[in-house]
Amino acid sequence: MNRNVLVLNSGSSSLKYAVVDADSGDTVADGIVERIGDSEVTDHAAALQVVFDELADDMDRLVAVGHRVVHGGPDIYRPTLVDDALIAKIEQLSPLAPLHNPPALQGIEVARKALPQLPHVAVFDTAFFHDLPAAAATYAIDREVAERWDVRRYGFHGTSHQYVSEQAARFLGAPLDSLRQIVLHLGNGASASAIAGGRPVDTSMGLTPMEGLVMGTRSGDIDPGALVYLWRTAGMSVEDIEDMLNRRSGVRGLGGEIDFRILHQRIDAGDAQARQAYEVYIHRLRKYIGAYLALLGGADVITFTAGVGENDAEVRRDALTGLTALGVELDEQLNSSPDRAARRISTEASPTTVLVVPTDEELAIARACADVIEQ
Ligand code: ADP
Repeated sequence: MNRNVLVLNSGSSSLKYAVVDADSGDTVADGIVERIGDSEVTDHAAALQVVFDELADDMDRLVAVGHRVVHGGPDIYRPTLVDDALIAKIEQLSPLAPLHNPPALQGIEVARKALPQLPHVAVFDTAFFHDLPAAAATYAIDREVAERWDVRRYGFHGTSHQYVSEQAARFLGAPLDSLRQIVLHLGNGASASAIAGGRPVDTSMGLTPMEGLVMGTRSGDIDPGALVYLWRTAGMSVEDIEDMLNRRSGVRGLGGEIDFRILHQRIDAGDAQARQAYEVYIHRLRKYIGAYLALLGGADVITFTAGVGENDAEVRRDALTGLTALGVELDEQLNSSPDRAARRISTEASPTTVLVVPTDEELAIARACADVIEQ
């Protein structure tokens, strides 16, 4: 018997889906419906209909639907069966994640209506980081304000950081609780985490998925004073500032391009802005790696994952060159191999093992769903 789970990841203008067998880990089908709202796919309900048409026969064998939800706020973090009360709670959290939670809710409501006979499970991106140590989770601001408004560091991409750190331990054949790990999830969104014994020690994203590394279109770390300055002096509205930080920043904001394959081509063709975007990206990444090496007292393993991390040998090399004194020595040949599977890219002698491990958030969500419906 197989336990197929339909995994849905609803963004504001796209719906990613996958049908995953939670037991074998096989992906039965997957795809993405894009440009929701500005094409013949008018809304999330229409997008889901496209998914159903694609899946056809696979629809009959589903045991559950898993929904990726970005922000669980301070209280919800475990994978949870969706009911009206949970929906109301996620709705209440929308101000904390205005760009992410509303489309996820839309996806949940549409899917529940369409598939009322199946259990629906929400899996939160913040879950893995729920127990971040207070020193890492706390912003040094007025305590009362922080408490009143739930301002703390939550962390995101948790499903990926957890999955990848477990896979890294498995690859090394070492118990998870014996390892100090740094995971670098470098996709369009990007985040780093420091993990000791399977528990998060720190992560680069904070209250929202904007903090930390330079991303495809998000700024990552910026002096909070800059935002106040732009609001007060440049006359930018809160909406302008939010839009700039989320959509017109990062490597696109600096270099005019989000896709690293094209960014490299532009750099090779002599584009100075593309080069600077890349250099800022690498500089920030190296800063976080150094910080996490210090927090952990050295790392047993550093793992690259997601679109850029899995595919871009140049980024991996530039992130880690010159770190021999810190115990990190990349093997250029292994690093350049086009291999797709989990693999080591450090030298045999390197005290820190460097890995590339493909992430699989859909599989992790499917497994979490299967666990919930079994209880
Ligand atoms: P998301 O955060 O949207 O899930 P992904 O993890 O799929 O993003 O990463 C997408 C990004 O990965 C692309 O924008 C591109 O910059 C990068 N990428 C994908 N393939 C390659 C490649 N072969 N070489 C370099 N970068 C790549």
